[in-house]
Amino acid sequence: MSVTTTRIAAVDTYDIRFPTSRELDGSDAMNPDPDYSAAYVVLRTSAGGHEGHGFTFTIGRGNDVQVAAIDALRDHVVGRPVAELCADPGSLYRDLTGDSQLRWLGPEKGVMHMAIGAVVNAVWDLAAKREGKPLWQLLADADPAWLVSQIDFRHIGDALTPGEALELLRQGKEGAADRASRLLLRGYPAYTTGPGWLGYSDEKLVRLAREAVADGFTQIKLKVGADLADDIRRCRTARETVGPDIRIAIDANQRWDIAEAIEWTKALAEFDPYWIEEPTSPDDILGHAAIRSGVHPIKVATGEHVQNRIVFKQLLQAEAIDFLQLDATRVGGVNENLAVLLLAAKFGVPVCPHAGGVGLCELVQHLSMFDFVALSGSTEGRAIEFADHLHEHFVDPARIHGGRYRTPTAPGFSATMHRAAIDTYRYPDGAFWAADLAATGTKERA
Ligand SMILES: [Mg+2]
Repeated sequence: MSVTTTRIAAVDTYDIRFPTSRELDGSDAMNPDPDYSAAYVVLRTSAGGHEGHGFTFTIGRGNDVQVAAIDALRDHVVGRPVAELCADPGSLYRDLTGDSQLRWLGPEKGVMHMAIGAVVNAVWDLAAKREGKPLWQLLADADPAWLVSQIDFRHIGDALTPGEALELLRQGKEGAADRASRLLLRGYPAYTTGPGWLGYSDEKLVRLAREAVADGFTQIKLKVGADLADDIRRCRTARETVGPDIRIAIDANQRWDIAEAIEWTKALAEFDPYWIEEPTSPDDILGHAAIRSGVHPIKVATGEHVQNRIVFKQLLQAEAIDFLQLDATRVGGVNENLAVLLLAAKFGVPVCPHAGGVGLCELVQHLSMFDFVALSGSTEGRAIEFADHLHEHFVDPARIHGGRYRTPTAPGFSATMHRAAIDTYRYPDGAFWAADLAATGTKERA
């Protein structure tokens, strides 16, 4: 090993969990008591200095499994020359998805694939910090041919060829400088899920919906799908609170079968829902297509649990969705999300990313902002989800003003958590959990 070459010296991992279930923050019909968690990874280099931070979002139990999956990738990463790695994150992405033994655990889906996403995103964070740019800008400034080289077209070539991707990115460059200036001035549209968690009382729903409108949001989202009578009451309450001009999206978090999804959504139609999100299994492409034609003119959205670019491809080919909700930590990192953004651009479907949880707003804003500046060139019909939880634990937190994300300007992917947050919420031995487990007399629940 050359002494003059800076290399990745360590891949540190942390099981970080926040006790959000105690306030029913994040509660929905499928996930009644989430403890927002991060399987967190830090890439340290032999030179010290900049680190690459990344993570996978989970909701509590199993976060240790997710950390173990990241640990299984360590040998692929340690020892890599940092300059080469940051000049071509796609090389690591391909090596990780191509590890034939680990690939058996997917392929390209589930815990192992999400672990790859965490590591790949950490590399992009490191690359952006080294370039001194926020990630959205690194991507927007990049040469289109280089961006195309970062994408794995295997299994999507029938829907998007490298040549088509290059053309879309070249078109995206036209007017990019002007859009970047506008982005820095005005930010990017957001909508809020804050008022709509299923475990909240009607009083809390009304209060938070009023606050959302006062804060400048033009769209809110309500969780539905557990009890129809409750949903009718809550949708009526929300509509009466916000009036006719604010969009109300509804989200069933996969709760229904196809016929039930159509029937239930139609039963809520009088409250003018903007979209029905995750009406059924994220794997059911034809089911989403059937629901879309069954609930028209209500629109259909999904994506936060779509496991890879191939399923996104099929959802688009089957004309099964009106909005594509990519997630920064569900798939194989920035590289695979570039493929997803390009597929969406090719098919003309707006991307309204999933966010919230812990750190998802921080990450995904960069992808939408790149898309606006240098790919689709539009925010029309687009908004990034926002939920106001746990941002205080990040060094460069997502910021909202007037119902819009402010544009991050600090170098990196906004993924870095404060050291104190890691020390406090590391499970089960961080300060919070150690005290909590001692007080309740329980052993760790991992
Ligand atoms: Mg959702």
